[in-house]
Amino acid sequence: MIDLDLLNDGVMVYSESNNLKADLVVGAFGLDEGMIRVMERLTPYRAPDCLSSIVTKIHPGEQVMASFGQYLHAFLLSSLRPVEFGAITPKGNHLSINIAGKEVEAIAMDRFLRLPAVKKVLPEISAQLLASLSYYKGRFPTGPARHFLLPRIIMIGDASGLNRPFKGKGINSAILTGVRAAEALARHGLTEKMLNDYRSKCADLIADLPYGRRLRWLTIIFTRLGLIDNILIEAEKEPALKRALFHIVSGQKPYRTIWKEECSLPLVIRLGFALLSRH
Ligand SMILES: Cc1cc2nc3c(=O)[nH]c(=O)nc-3n(C[C@H](O)[C@H](O)[C@H](O)COP(=O)(O)OP(=O)(O)OC[C@H]3O[C@@H](n4cnc5c(N)ncnc54)[C@H](O)[C@@H]3O)c2cc1C
Repeated sequence: MIDLDLLNDGVMVYSESNNLKADLVVGAFGLDEGMIRVMERLTPYRAPDCLSSIVTKIHPGEQVMASFGQYLHAFLLSSLRPVEFGAITPKGNHLSINIAGKEVEAIAMDRFLRLPAVKKVLPEISAQLLASLSYYKGRFPTGPARHFLLPRIIMIGDASGLNRPFKGKGINSAILTGVRAAEALARHGLTEKMLNDYRSKCADLIADLPYGRRLRWLTIIFTRLGLIDNILIEAEKEPALKRALFHIVSGQKPYRTIWKEECSLPLVIRLGFALLSRH
């Protein structure tokens, strides 16, 4: 698809070789800059805020992968400013290494891979593989798009920005929003009710956004203040804090649920005192 025209009774969709009149357009274009420009020119839609990310992969061999285990290593580093977080994740036959920040570049990944804390986690063989790594650059949303539901155009997936704002799971959100949009459309047809139904089916994702955003800002502040190591030390003594950190990183529960299940005033006060006394 290269362009659209909004008509009184539909949307004209243009491809490079054809055109087609549609009753409804489902925007599943991810964060494609060309499509974002088209949508923003024609409609009140505004793309979500994003973090940029660089990913690379290391294939250290089956044996090394087996001894690495199923551990996801998350890094919050005050020493590498443009990087908000980094992660090393075992994915079947390889390790996926990614960093993310407002604007991260290849040089930040070079530095990340050479940090002592990162080298300690990577298998020894990685040192030989570093020079030949390929880097992939991408973006992911950190908040909802504005006006992602329009009378004849509805966004799903990254284009809607309805992701977990901190620890993505973007593929899950893309599938969920796609299925929910299809269900709403099948039930109500092209009506106002369909838009409302789609929005209310996504209420769980929408309600989680403010929690994720606050968590992201708290994490940035704690990282800059150098408090993350102390929080991890406290988590060894506080089972609720340990569970909360596990669910935040693994993405197994919505932030809202984690907050409701694990956070209490006494825990926050104990943690506050412990951090102040250590700092
Ligand atoms: C580096 C990186 C690593 C990630 N790792 C993970 C992970 O491990 N797990 C996870 O859950 N999520 C991960 N994500 C997020 C995940 O990839 C996205 O959230 C997810 O792919 C969004 O799906 P989508 O269908 O909305 O968009 P996309 O997957 O971006 O798909 C959009 C599609 O639309 C096509 N398109 C765009 N414009 C047009 C056009 N004009 N005409 C025709 N076609 C068009 C594109 O070619 C593309 O195929 C990662 C993201 C990045 C950047």
